[in-house]
Amino acid sequence: MFLQRTALAAARRAAVAPVVRRSFAVSAIRRDANKVEPHTSGNRKIKSFHEIRTEEDLIGPGAAPGTVPTDLEQATGLERLEILGKMEGVDIFDMRPLDASRKGTLDNPIPVKSAGDEQYAGCTGYPADSHVVTWLGMSRERPIERCPECGSVYKMEYVGPQDDGHGHHDHHGYEEPKTFADYVKPQYW
Ligand SMILES: [Zn+2]
Repeated sequence: MFLQRTALAAARRAAVAPVVRRSFAVSAIRRDANKVEPHTSGNRKIKSFHEIRTEEDLIGPGAAPGTVPTDLEQATGLERLEILGKMEGVDIFDMRPLDASRKGTLDNPIPVKSAGDEQYAGCTGYPADSHVVTWLGMSRERPIERCPECGSVYKMEYVGPQDDGHGHHDHHGYEEPKTFADYVKPQYW
């Protein structure tokens, strides 16, 4: 019995040692993965919103081995900038609803900021939700739009880059489609 046990122990030490070592190594990695702080991984540190300077800064560190990455760890690009901004209370895409405290008029339209050439805005009337959503399309060429349901006037304010490389005034011969507004006699405006 004693001999048997000793032989068994020796055999385990000798033959099974590599297997044992490997399983220890694996469990050691798993323990390390559990101990890793969620905001660090390897040598890369997560940059905060105010440390972002270039596109290169908008790459996450990735997840620690053996863990499932969070959005903060793996998001890149604009999504990453949005997440980092939200963490510091900065709404980079300005997702606030449009001003619904009044009805827009031609003299004093509701401003709609846009970083692109076109912008759609949903009007629900004044007071808000007094009619179903009506989508209004505005563009840099035709920034003013009036809701056909309630008459509220919206005006797109372009806030995008001034030099977008497209030559804003050259749209390759594209012409806005004519609307009834193009045929209203000037004296009626
Ligand atoms: Zn409306």
